[in-house]
Amino acid sequence: MPGEDVVIAGGGLVGKAAALALAQAGLRVLLCGARPAAAAPAQGYGQRVYAFNAASRRFLDGLRVWSQLPQARVQPVARMRIAADGAALQFDAYAQSVEALAWIAESDAVERALDLALQFERGATLVPGGVEQAQFDGAQWALTLADGSVARTGLLLGADGRHSRVRDWAGIGLRRKPYGQTGLVCNLRCALPHGGTAYQAFTEAGVIALLPLVDQGGEHQVSLVWSAPDALATTLRAAGAEGLVPSLQSHLEALGAARLAPFAAAGEIGAWPLVLQRARSLVAPGTALLGDAGHVIHPLAGHGLNLGLQDVQALVAVLTGRGDAQAVGDARVLRRYARARAEQVLALELATDGLHRLYAPGMAWLAPLRALGLAGTNHLTPLKRLLAGYASGLSVMA
Ligand SMILES: Cc1cc2nc3c(=O)[nH]c(=O)nc-3n(C[C@H](O)[C@H](O)[C@H](O)COP(=O)(O)OP(=O)(O)OC[C@H]3O[C@@H](n4cnc5c(N)ncnc54)[C@H](O)[C@@H]3O)c2cc1C
Repeated sequence: MPGEDVVIAGGGLVGKAAALALAQAGLRVLLCGARPAAAAPAQGYGQRVYAFNAASRRFLDGLRVWSQLPQARVQPVARMRIAADGAALQFDAYAQSVEALAWIAESDAVERALDLALQFERGATLVPGGVEQAQFDGAQWALTLADGSVARTGLLLGADGRHSRVRDWAGIGLRRKPYGQTGLVCNLRCALPHGGTAYQAFTEAGVIALLPLVDQGGEHQVSLVWSAPDALATTLRAAGAEGLVPSLQSHLEALGAARLAPFAAAGEIGAWPLVLQRARSLVAPGTALLGDAGHVIHPLAGHGLNLGLQDVQALVAVLTGRGDAQAVGDARVLRRYARARAEQVLALELATDGLHRLYAPGMAWLAPLRALGLAGTNHLTPLKRLLAGYASGLSVMA
């Protein structure tokens, strides 16, 4: 295989977005592990849906991917209600003077749009098999691919998820803290329209969120994301999707979503163990990590993928902005990428982990203070604007 400018290991959303963005920027890219996305379900929604913030949407727009999404399946979030201890913090797109607080779209739909765009990108070569072995000689990586062929590159990008082998091959250490929680995801039908509102509540049973989905065939739907303590998650999973609904019932008041009831399951339950994880460095000689390979945060803010897409933007910016004499794997270029990402990754890690700790079951004694803080924040318009601006990602990726 001829030497590529860049080889990407990992064809998830972050890897595919990186391949497209780098090829559009004029680099020759080999994407390994690029399996085609699943076809659209005949009915209902795919199980994995994400809240895309304004920065991710703008980035995908620039890649000519967002416009390829079936807009009838993309739900703008007009309002967000975050509740805990009987108090609530509400965000409103209109009051914040923004088009939407976020957009809910299916993972597979975004991947399909990326697949389509990549087909027309001459700079990108896609292979379905992964990278099996890798060796770095100080200047170049020699990568053994699943079909036995060998690819060489001066820059290997690890977009291979939380169990990244690229991270290991590059000798990059990892800090990891399991949360003892499992993220349960399930699509639900609800009786009344959600009006584009996303609901989230911090409860003794974990963090529960209902993300609005576009009505289909006259039916109203939401995606439930329940970060439940592991023991409870095991019980909930054992009860199956229909069994999940009665358990949700007792939290509807806390969520402020009781008016949407009754709910019914509209799909199966998906489950992901939740961890806080951070690579000790985003770069090593000839290597950079992107997305979950570099950092995994609690999903309570719905920002993991947004962070990964912002990694891609930052990497493209430093690679295209490098000096004429600098190779793509130049250590100074890679350090610039690591520096560009340090602050935002740390800030979101601290914010999500801090919130998780603040609302952990053993912290109930703090409830009156927490309620005061949440209610107080709700009345502070400038602070809310600041929080919404940060969540949009636009203040970082200006
Ligand atoms: C319950 C839950 C809800 C979430 N909700 C949101 C949300 O609303 N918004 C948001 O922004 N984020 C959210 N996240 C976070 C988001 O899911 C992740 O951050 C995102 O999926 C990471 O994408 P990735 O491409 O980095 O990794 P992955 O999706 O894990 O992709 C990695 C890919 O690399 C491949 N691979 C592995 N090894 C190799 C190899 N050696 N060679 C080649 N390929 C390889 C894998 O097969 C896989 O396809 C949520 C997470 C959870 C658990």
